[in-house]
Amino acid sequence: MKKKIIKIILGSSTGLIIVSLIIIVSILMVYSFFGGEIFDSGYVEGNMEYAEVYRSVLNNNITRNINGYIPLSRLMYFYLEDDNLSLNEIYENNIDYELKTIKPFKEVCLEHYNSFYTCQETEILKNNHSDEYPFKPFNAPVKFEDTIITSYYGEERIVYDRFNIHYAWDFAAPAETPVYSIGDGIVKKVMFSQSTNKIDINNGFGNYIRIEYNVDDRIYEVIYAHLYPYSSKVQVGEIVKSWQEIATIGTTGYSTGNHLHWEVILENIKIDGLNLVDFNL
Ligand SMILES: [Zn+2]
Repeated sequence: MKKKIIKIILGSSTGLIIVSLIIIVSILMVYSFFGGEIFDSGYVEGNMEYAEVYRSVLNNNITRNINGYIPLSRLMYFYLEDDNLSLNEIYENNIDYELKTIKPFKEVCLEHYNSFYTCQETEILKNNHSDEYPFKPFNAPVKFEDTIITSYYGEERIVYDRFNIHYAWDFAAPAETPVYSIGDGIVKKVMFSQSTNKIDINNGFGNYIRIEYNVDDRIYEVIYAHLYPYSSKVQVGEIVKSWQEIATIGTTGYSTGNHLHWEVILENIKIDGLNLVDFNL
């Protein structure tokens, strides 16, 4: 009787479609259970689930204690293998406290997670651990201790009922907190369209400044947005220096409160600027 039912199911085309759908759905369920894909850019698919915890870990290690930056992607290699670990503990295991930067993946494996699958030689070679790039040409755009990180690079979030992935950093602080140039650059745009410090969801970046930084013949375009009205201390064409104050924090444009939206673009791709910041500068 059972065999007959199976034969009927597999014999009919609808039966076959249903069976294949069940298989596909199960595969997808197993896949999502083990977490999403980790991209080389630092974006972790499905990261909304961890966003609140990760933001608090970031603030613990960047704005309250200035230890250094570890992207979520790096934490996920370990967390997805053992979710009994805490993100903060993994973060601390990945920090080189002396250099205030990320430790090489291999070193973290040897010290803490040697039995993990992700620490096998072949796995280490297969994954592009590009966040280890020791190139840190910039200083921070704010004094970290003045701010709270309210959104990280690659964060999946819902703002005003709209889903987006935030390929930039948000640093919240009281209105008129100083914003600094992250290096020696040239001011390309100073757009101050709002004269009052208020949210205008139809005005994108609100008041903003764009500065270009040429580092080893590569141009980094950097946007500092939602700035306080009339706070610009620079003009188009002006050469600015590292740590020079360029404006102050506001909440103009498509914003939810006083904060700096800080975006770094290299060859038309929004990259993770915090990977390029030297925490010792
Ligand atoms: Zn932002």
